[in-house]
Amino acid sequence: MLKVINPYTRQLIKEIPTDTAETIHKKWETARIAQTHWRQTPLMRRMEIIARFRVLLQDNLDRLAQLLMSEVGKPISQAQNELRGTQGRLDFFLQNIESALKTDTVLSDKGNEERISWDPLGVIANISAWNYPYFVGTNVFIPAILTGNTVLYKPSEYSTLTGIEFSKLLTQAGLPEGVFSLILGARAQAEQLLERPLNGVFFTGSRNTGLSINRAVAGQLCKVQLELGGKDPVYVRDDANVRIAAESLADGAFYNTGQSCCSVERIYVHDMIYKDFVQHFVNTVKGFKIGDPSDAQTYIGPLTRKQQIDVLKAQVKDAVAKGARLEVGGGVWKEHDGFFEPTVLTNADHTMEVMREESFGPIIGIQPVRSDDEAIELMNDTEYGLTAGVYTSDQEEAEVLLDRVNAGTVYWNCCDRVSPRLPWTGRRGSGIGSTLSMLGIRSFLQPKAWHLVQPKG
Ligand code: NAD
Repeated sequence: MLKVINPYTRQLIKEIPTDTAETIHKKWETARIAQTHWRQTPLMRRMEIIARFRVLLQDNLDRLAQLLMSEVGKPISQAQNELRGTQGRLDFFLQNIESALKTDTVLSDKGNEERISWDPLGVIANISAWNYPYFVGTNVFIPAILTGNTVLYKPSEYSTLTGIEFSKLLTQAGLPEGVFSLILGARAQAEQLLERPLNGVFFTGSRNTGLSINRAVAGQLCKVQLELGGKDPVYVRDDANVRIAAESLADGAFYNTGQSCCSVERIYVHDMIYKDFVQHFVNTVKGFKIGDPSDAQTYIGPLTRKQQIDVLKAQVKDAVAKGARLEVGGGVWKEHDGFFEPTVLTNADHTMEVMREESFGPIIGIQPVRSDDEAIELMNDTEYGLTAGVYTSDQEEAEVLLDRVNAGTVYWNCCDRVSPRLPWTGRRGSGIGSTLSMLGIRSFLQPKAWHLVQPKG
């Protein structure tokens, strides 16, 4: 049984029976059979179903946002934002699916023709995370379904209720049985799912779990795509607008209570503007409202997984012991032990865990630097490579610097954002492959190369 507990009220919301090896096998078998029909289903029909699902998300927006808030503790305004953003992504998929599937004729010459066409992968497993379940779920299973795959979706054990809603709404939208199946449970059920023969494994979650999944399916020779964590750096140059940069970066670090894969996790500031930046940054953080996630003004909610508090405490202790200055926060909120206070550590450096290991919570390290070169070297000095940003008034310099950063996404004067038109892709410890954009649709397809020669004579 999975116990779904509200991290704010601490009430048990629901107990949910989990899948067993037998039920997982049955769902896999159904998905395998359904795929042979689904891939033949005309694209227009597949698009109609997903368009109807989009309408259902819109019609149920408030209820779905409440549900997300109740199971992960996300402040209600941020839960609503996530649902609105999900609709923009569905629109992108619906608008671009036809061109992603279009056969390209790459040569047509004297009776010779060469073409590339696109086939679905087959049956895919989607093992997902809880921090943005509407985003990271639909980023995978919507293009997977539109391209003719069938999906076995294992939501995180911390966001099972939103996973169940996906299944209900897709069925209500007219999706045939077996095209999208829920696997309910935690690690054990995910591992059992990976024992089935699969044509693709799409994972969103932590780096360590990504490594285990990669090992678990190594013998299958199926496509593996991993969207993992980050330690996303930003550099503020001495020519940046200090107040605007500080406010923007405080939001980038603390939105979603710091539990975003692309949260700003470390900041390097040129020492010419360092003092001024820290002052604006700390003032902004002090203004964040912490508390009841159902209050529309709340910005910082409880942590979804209470055990992350130990990681945050250890990072603060380590940093302070090594000489960091605690500007604000630093521990569990005195009014509710499921919260961690928004925490700012300054004079940080790379001997400290807070500057090199993912925090995934409301905490940030700020380090002064003396030059662009020093900033770039530090930005590249972790195992991760998800996003990185530079704040400066000089676009040309920004582009030169961002070109030297080894990350899948780079930002100039912005942070913590995702566009459906651009690939969402990590490097090194942040993952393999892309979702979103045309590349993210093609992730669920395999090319077929055609050589066609007209008969001679
Ligand atoms: P997690 O790795 O703990 O769990 C993710 C999923 O994996 C869950 O469904 C879980 O049940 C399953 N799982 C756990 N152990 C497993 C195993 N050994 N084999 C197979 N499956 C297993 O991650 P989380 O706490 O849900 O999510 C937080 C992490 O996800 C952070 O590191 C965050 O940065 C990352 N994340 C990355 C992106 C991205 O797009 N790059 C997006 C969201 C979250």
